Amino acid sequence: ETSTVTVVDPATGEERGSYPEHGPAQIEAALAAADAAFRDWRRWPVAERAALLSGVARVLRERADDLAQLITTEMGKPLSESRFEVEKCASACEHFAEAGPATLADETIDAAPGRSIVTYEPIGVIYAVMPWNFPLWQVTRFAGPALLAGNTALLKHAPNVSGTALALADVFTAAGAPEGVFTSLIVAPPNVPQVSADLIADPRVAAVTLTGSERAGAFVAAEAGRALKKSVLELGGSDPFVVLADADLDVAVQHAVKGRLMCAGQTCIAPKRFLIDATVVDEFERRLVDALEAVRIGDGREEGTQLGPLARLDILETLERQVAATVEEGAQLKTGGRRLDRPGFFFPPTVLSGVKPGMTAFTDETFGPVVAITPFADEEEAIELANDTRYGLGATVWSTDTERAHAVARRIESGAVSVNTLVASDPRLPFGGIKRSGYGRELAAVGAREFTNIRTYKIA
Ligand code: NDP
Repeated sequence: ETSTVTVVDPATGEERGSYPEHGPAQIEAALAAADAAFRDWRRWPVAERAALLSGVARVLRERADDLAQLITTEMGKPLSESRFEVEKCASACEHFAEAGPATLADETIDAAPGRSIVTYEPIGVIYAVMPWNFPLWQVTRFAGPALLAGNTALLKHAPNVSGTALALADVFTAAGAPEGVFTSLIVAPPNVPQVSADLIADPRVAAVTLTGSERAGAFVAAEAGRALKKSVLELGGSDPFVVLADADLDVAVQHAVKGRLMCAGQTCIAPKRFLIDATVVDEFERRLVDALEAVRIGDGREEGTQLGPLARLDILETLERQVAATVEEGAQLKTGGRRLDRPGFFFPPTVLSGVKPGMTAFTDETFGPVVAITPFADEEEAIELANDTRYGLGATVWSTDTERAHAVARRIESGAVSVNTLVASDPRLPFGGIKRSGYGRELAAVGAREFTNIRTYKIA
């Protein structure tokens, strides 16, 4: 018996779409098709696989308006951000097509006796579990390089972006992808763990990649461990935003607003813990509160909206609980703090000041527009606070002395760190985390090679 997956418009709270679940027979057929497609696809010249990605870029651009509308309707972010996401995917596909083949080319290594060659060969069907916050980008970031290398993909997207998941599969088909190279499965949440465990255990699946929560990541990684298969995990973060006393406060505040409000704060690499030199913390806080209170909140489809709703009611409830707990623990609420009294899942920009290690907003990831401010006395304390977290995804340091900021950045534990600019994923640079933010890398040459058999040949 199959059920349906429903999508709720987060700006209104009303049902927007209903998608029939893929039952066991359809999942088996999809897996068989992905496996069959792999045998053929891996034999295509890499230049032809690259041409498919150029085609995907073209179709994404042709359909940009419809895709952006769909993303905004399903998960709420402002249309301008959805359009930006579609274009980012298109330009990344072009980049993979252009720069990718060289990163997968055979390498000859000087290691006598005989000739030594290292190759990057595909491994098979990759099972991908993806989240709703960047519903096109999270998938494209994985699928572009994985498909270019000659693998095929089975996607299990988040249920609230089921329409986007199917639309993306259709983009691949329209671009000329053979059947089975990229498939979106619709699975109702109660069945997701069992379906995932079965797929990971199946000999036809080679590896699994997941972007999402620690809980989902630990589940998938445990199943991969049981089956002795490779996994790549991109999980949560609680990135520090370290403002040294000599920082340009206008620049810092402007980027704090942008970084924390993008996607209504539901971003793994958003700055979440704002560590500010005690001599400038009051000024930073005052300017930040002013800037946040001027932000236009509304339906993402309305032009001029800067902050849309959160994606789901339970995300809003969790955030509201985290803010209340942090205030209970002794922090001061400077603005925001409670859901807006209107339909939909709206939560205003919120500033918590005097946040200390051990408080909820410091310890746990806040997936929403919440700024937690913690003052520090000196650089040593800043570094200690920055590293006082179970996460290690990104970090930023703000200072007019870039050498000094670079030295501080070196001592922060993370997969990425930026000085005077926000952390952002870029197809040319590796992306991923350490500690409980996950392992493995996406993008750049290392990302393209994650799902390959790095194979050694010796010809004597
Ligand atoms: P989830 O991790 O639950 O969802 C992400 C994806 O994982 C979805 O496709 C989900 O499917 C799937 N999933 C969940 N449980 C399992 C499982 N046992 N086996 C296989 N797949 C599973 O995140 P939420 O959407 O509930 O968000 C909760 C928190 O996760 C956020 O507050 C944030 O901290 C973190 N998160 C981090 C993201 C990032 O970019 N790194 C993105 C999204 C969330 P289904 O919903 O059907 O269970």
